[in-house]
Amino acid sequence: MTKPLVVITGASSGIGAAIAKQFSDAGHALLLIARRIEKLEALDLPNTVCRKVDVTDTAALRAAIVEAEGQYGPADCLINNAGLMQLGQIDTQDPAEWRNMYDVNVVALLNGMQAVLGDMKRRNHGTIINISSIAGKKSFPNHAAYVGTKFAVSAISENVREEVADTGVRVMTICPGAVETELLDHTTNPDIINGYQDWKDSIGGAIHADDVARIAVFMYTQPQSVNIRDVVVAPTRQT
Ligand code: NDP
Repeated sequence: MTKPLVVITGASSGIGAAIAKQFSDAGHALLLIARRIEKLEALDLPNTVCRKVDVTDTAALRAAIVEAEGQYGPADCLINNAGLMQLGQIDTQDPAEWRNMYDVNVVALLNGMQAVLGDMKRRNHGTIINISSIAGKKSFPNHAAYVGTKFAVSAISENVREEVADTGVRVMTICPGAVETELLDHTTNPDIINGYQDWKDSIGGAIHADDVARIAVFMYTQPQSVNIRDVVVAPTRQT
């Protein structure tokens, strides 16, 4: 029998795609959300609804969740993974990049939680996993605006966790260190891109998206009475 519906934003590449595969392997129905629908469909996972949604479009996000719930029943897990990293220095970076990151990394994450939390609270069951970052715990060169979004994700997650704890709903945060994905592709400054690549080489390379996905499945599959609140997972050599 198909296991409960898991909603994953940003499932078209990297960590989100890896999480989708592992939850599918575990037998869950899925709603996969991203703008590149062809990459969602190429995953070719069973019992899966793929929808082309920009997570900043709250109405479209809600509609996709309602549609998938109509097919597979209530969402038992939302993984707010969609994210953008545009590194830059504040005196030279295009402010539009800050706005993009706050809209996708923070506001859309709040909207996602709002879309599922009411029903989870009524059912006294459900799990939200927010993908923050090690940059939600400490600062890095050229990361000011991005770090701001990820500190916000970690703070919001902890606050909501406390707010809903007595309903039995779990809110969890995963804070990855360097993971090999497409995340750096959105940074526009070539010097910063090169510096980041050199730094990654200096720590012996990044971990894999599958490493993060394994942890997401482990956290979710604990008994509902157990909440692994916050996990940092990073390359061993990353300081
Ligand atoms: P990727 O760039 O590979 O994946 C990002 C995903 O987010 C894509 O599926 C992309 O889909 C989706 N996305 C971005 N903007 C939107 C949007 N407006 N609407 C819908 N989907 C969107 O990077 P990662 O897998 O690395 O990133 C996943 C998460 O992990 C992010 O939150 C990131 O901040 C976090 N993270 C990553 C780390 C790393 O080193 N890679 C370290 C720490 C945290 P599409 O373009 O198709 O819309």
